[in-house]
Amino acid sequence: MNPAERRALVEEEFRQRFGHAPTLWAQAPGRVDLMGNHTDYNEGYVMTMAIDRNTWLAARPRKDRKVAIFSLNVEGGGEFNLDDIRRDEISPWTNYVRGVATVFQDEGFTLHGFDGLVHSTIPFGSGLSSSAGLEVVTATLLKMLADTWHIDPVRLARLCQRAENEFVGMNCGVLDQYSSALGQAGHSLLLDCRELTHRTASIPEGLKVVICDTRIERELTGSEYGERRAQCEEGVQRLAEFYPAATHLRDLSLAQLREHEAALPAVVAKRCRFIIEENQRVLDLGEALSADDRTAIRALTEGSYLGARDLYEIISPATEPMIQAILEAPGTVGARQAGAGFGGCMVAFVEARSAEVFAEFVRTRYQAETTITPEVYPVQAAPGAGPLGFPE
Ligand code: ADP
Ligand code: MG
Repeated sequence: MNPAERRALVEEEFRQRFGHAPTLWAQAPGRVDLMGNHTDYNEGYVMTMAIDRNTWLAARPRKDRKVAIFSLNVEGGGEFNLDDIRRDEISPWTNYVRGVATVFQDEGFTLHGFDGLVHSTIPFGSGLSSSAGLEVVTATLLKMLADTWHIDPVRLARLCQRAENEFVGMNCGVLDQYSSALGQAGHSLLLDCRELTHRTASIPEGLKVVICDTRIERELTGSEYGERRAQCEEGVQRLAEFYPAATHLRDLSLAQLREHEAALPAVVAKRCRFIIEENQRVLDLGEALSADDRTAIRALTEGSYLGARDLYEIISPATEPMIQAILEAPGTVGARQAGAGFGGCMVAFVEARSAEVFAEFVRTRYQAETTITPEVYPVQAAPGAGPLGFPE
């Protein structure tokens, strides 16, 4: 579906549902991490990129204080009152919208009622951050409706993260919302999750970033994610006895970890080692991309994949046929698990001239191994959230 067809579809559905046309359009992109699994909550680094898969929100302001919200991707939806926002157990997906409204209102921002229809091309639960897309597009629309907000995109991202943490109840880091709010066309972002700043990096011209979606739904139950976080915290606490300035794994080097590894339970030591190494890989990937050093890109992605599998243990065995298919495919430079793990997508760097044969090979090989039809597609670095302009 091209943008014109997509717009026509959303506009038609909006008219049918609400009896009039939308007057405001906003978009917020999904994102893929090129390096940096689970480094965000350790206050480390991530190489992240907003992608050309995004969430649209078409809307029209209302005169009352109600929000009517529906989605072309999910059943359900309904109305809520901005003066009495409650959690919705029947259409839980609307809690992302309700949560954003709640948090911004609590922070003193003026909100206006609207009729809204969501449409997204970000797959759910694949590690490309459809939830952040929905939160950030909601905040962007609320800002457009009020026209009086003074808020920088970093704060907007943090408040969206808070909505997911506090209202939805998912204890995620800020990476997803930051990428969706601050993405830049043609660039990846090397994000410092402590300072909440980034510098841009370019993907070498001859390379494409290709998403290889295993179609194995990410089973990141709150418990696995929470357990990894707790193990990192335990590691820091114990190591802080030797290095009192350390508050997060970001503050520790591999040499420091090695020195006192014996003071940690074995599983905690493995988790810490992965995060410390992965942080360094993010910085090294920044160098490798600007030098167009394919040998380094390959080594770094391989290190990330193997660490995620053997140290952080976030690779579901069911997804291993995907990495095998990628590594055998023509044009592969390197690949790793994207997102938080336990299913979802791999991200590959592929020679641009081989992108099509690569995709065909991976589809065929993975399907033959697993009987699952994967989705394999190149992505471009896209701009962050904002009003959606249509050429008239
Ligand atoms: P991810 O962010 O990796 O895609 P999450 O589990 O964090 O996975 O978020 C997915 C959830 O976000 C969906 O199950 C749904 O509740 C909500 N969501 C995201 N996009 C939309 C959409 N376009 N319409 C309705 N709900 C959505
Ligand atoms: Mg999410």
